[in-house]
Amino acid sequence: MATTREVCLLIGRDNQVLWSDESDNPFLLPDSRERWEAIWHFRAELEEVAHSHPEGPLGFSAEDESTMSALTSALGRPLRFSVVAPGGMVARVEGRDVLLAEEPWWAEPLRRVSGMRRQPVALA
Ligand SMILES: [Zn+2]
Repeated sequence: MATTREVCLLIGRDNQVLWSDESDNPFLLPDSRERWEAIWHFRAELEEVAHSHPEGPLGFSAEDESTMSALTSALGRPLRFSVVAPGGMVARVEGRDVLLAEEPWWAEPLRRVSGMRRQPVALA
């Protein structure tokens, strides 16, 4: 039986993966003390916090919203947030959710580690 897990990545400059962790629950990545410590450790170079929704949806959950506002106020500057789901990737850019036509290199490995299968894209 295939198992999926939600994975969180901390991304630095030039799409460098600084840190990652994962959870057995595909729907909720519980707040972890370790992750907060990693975020604080990398706060100077941290540019983006990405995580996977292996079972969807392609968008931010209510838990994500509260985590994002907590992070933004803890760091005192805006970060980029993104969700990678089977059908695509969405990023919050200046308060708006944008579907990315071109994904960063780490999106596919993030899907793989999450146990996700990318949904086939219909070609015209
Ligand atoms: Zn989420």
